[in-house]
Amino acid sequence: MSIIRMSVSDFGAVGVMALEPAKPLYDRCVVPSYARSISVVRGSGSWIWDEDGKKYLDLGGGVAVNCLGHAHPRIVEALQNQASRLIHASNLYYNQPQGALASKLVSLTGEGKVFFCNSGAEANETLIKLARRTGHPRGRFEVITALNSFHGRTMAGISATGQQKVKETFEPLLPGFTHVPYNDLGAVEAAINERTAAVLIEGIQGEGGIQPARVDYLLGLRELTQKHGILLLWDGVQCGCYRTGHFHSYQTLLEGHPQAASFVPDGIAMAKSLGGGFPIGAAWIRAPYADVFQPGSHGSTFGGTPLACAVSLSVLAEIEEKKLPEHIVQMGLRLTKGLEKLKATKPIVDIRGIGGMIGMVLQDDAPAACARLREAGLLTVPATGNVLRFLPPLNVSPEEIDEALVLVEKAL
Ligand code: PLP
Repeated sequence: MSIIRMSVSDFGAVGVMALEPAKPLYDRCVVPSYARSISVVRGSGSWIWDEDGKKYLDLGGGVAVNCLGHAHPRIVEALQNQASRLIHASNLYYNQPQGALASKLVSLTGEGKVFFCNSGAEANETLIKLARRTGHPRGRFEVITALNSFHGRTMAGISATGQQKVKETFEPLLPGFTHVPYNDLGAVEAAINERTAAVLIEGIQGEGGIQPARVDYLLGLRELTQKHGILLLWDGVQCGCYRTGHFHSYQTLLEGHPQAASFVPDGIAMAKSLGGGFPIGAAWIRAPYADVFQPGSHGSTFGGTPLACAVSLSVLAEIEEKKLPEHIVQMGLRLTKGLEKLKATKPIVDIRGIGGMIGMVLQDDAPAACARLREAGLLTVPATGNVLRFLPPLNVSPEEIDEALVLVEKAL
């Protein structure tokens, strides 16, 4: 008996549309580590279609990944062009797209250098290793993170994450992580000791329910970490890459503040939207620490392939040329205003967020509401605390936002 009826050569010959339904194959052959719903076959812009031909407005954006929507022609072109030149080359060699992307990220962030990897968890892993390596001569290795944070699913990622549910049954965890309440500077100060190497925070907690950091907290953290000679590390995996209107969310959170221009963390994790759907992760490291990883100390086979970097460069170019940072702020406001109006008649408690990162706090179970919206044709993403997340493509249109509002009104 053959479990998988189509061979790899069939796949190439007949194309993906001829594949059999996914769910029975998943039930038999894919590790059930996700609660999945629909089976998707193709997408275009903000829209995605399932196996039965049903169309959905995708404002979950692949959990803040599809920043240009689905099948964007510029991404397709970059993939095709680079794939026909050079897809992968070992990190034993230089490649031009990686150099160009590193230079772009440095110009968008500040003096420093970039390490490339493949995911958000790996980018955070790099920052955690940076903290340990810089703290090592002084016996410092602990990292303070926030309660309700989310930093990825590797062992260091779940150890850093401030949510018990991701840790259970995986103990013993990596030692050296302390979790304190978010937006509470006093709690961070109290937690710093002679073993502390770094503080790691998300600018806007995503999985934690769309919770933005306060200005005084950010500035206070920068001052505190400098005072103690420890690193301030920034998880910009979900809130970065122009989602809030600036490349990094601290640039948005501190906008207009006199200290905005001088604020920069010591390390920044990026992933998700950086590749617009193609896997890529990156850790920017501020200049004084940028050379701590010497040959042999850290690495990644697939980190910074010519293909991933060429795609990322095309994503950033499209976002900038089309002025999508300004656009997504307007679209976010439109969505927020519309949802605010629905508060009067629907079981909505609060709307919060910045730019294209919006949380709708519900009276009850967010996964159930997410299912009702999906049934109505709108995709969103649940988060902790009865929150539904809207993480639309940065090029979502006003008409699509209005349509989403109609679907929310209908479904809730
Ligand atoms: N950090 C944050 C803030 C995230 O939201 C996520 C994923 O949702 C991660 C890290 C982990 O990223 P990845 O799933 O690419 O490893």
